[in-house]
Amino acid sequence: MLLSRWQQIKERLPEGVHLLAVSKGHSVAAIRQLAELGQRDFGESRLQEALPKISILNSQFQIRWHFIGRLQANKVRSVVKSFAVIHSVDSISLVKRISRIAGEERRCPEIMLQVKMRDDPNKGGFCPEDLCKLWPEIDHLPNLKIVGLMTMAPFELSLEERKHLFQECSDLAIKLSLPERSMGMSSDWEQALQAGSTWLRLGSIVFGDQKKTPSLHTDINKDD
Ligand SMILES: *Cc1c(COP(=O)(O)O)cnc(C)c1O
Repeated sequence: MLLSRWQQIKERLPEGVHLLAVSKGHSVAAIRQLAELGQRDFGESRLQEALPKISILNSQFQIRWHFIGRLQANKVRSVVKSFAVIHSVDSISLVKRISRIAGEERRCPEIMLQVKMRDDPNKGGFCPEDLCKLWPEIDHLPNLKIVGLMTMAPFELSLEERKHLFQECSDLAIKLSLPERSMGMSSDWEQALQAGSTWLRLGSIVFGDQKKTPSLHTDINKDD
């Protein structure tokens, strides 16, 4: 079932659009099953949950780990050491900190800057005007590669409104000459795709319903 869900989604993606399999809340066995099919990009949002999974799976697969959760300053070093891409960089102080620490750790993570296209007290992110003002300062930071923008639509928006929001985010990325747009989750990925997403962050429609307590060693057949 996991396989057919994954294959069905992959078949619908045009060239240049990537599936980020969001594996938070899902077992090592489930991740392994997708990795064996050739899925290389996995997203995790909680460091404590991700680190043990990463250490088990990195010995077997060439996985590119993407950090997609809210990133606290004191977790930056750990995230920089274990993740290739960070999608949730939502302030100038955070991006500067990542730059400094990545230099110390001799890493060069890819960065998506999180933007907040509408007021939303529940979410972090740059507002578009601030990002444009700060851009000259951000653009030149060493030891990281800013590749795109990430956004999430407020919960209450209709699908049509989400599509408009994603389109605005794409326009902003183009204005800043950034090639990637990390937009769209299980509930709104088709709208995100229509609006130019290049990274769909999909959890539940790939893995099935989320488990409350992820078990690292559950057998995949029991799990699914
Ligand atoms: C959990 C999560 C997703 C995936 O959500 P689904 O609705 O399960 O597809 C995508 N992006 C972020 C930032 C998440 O935290």
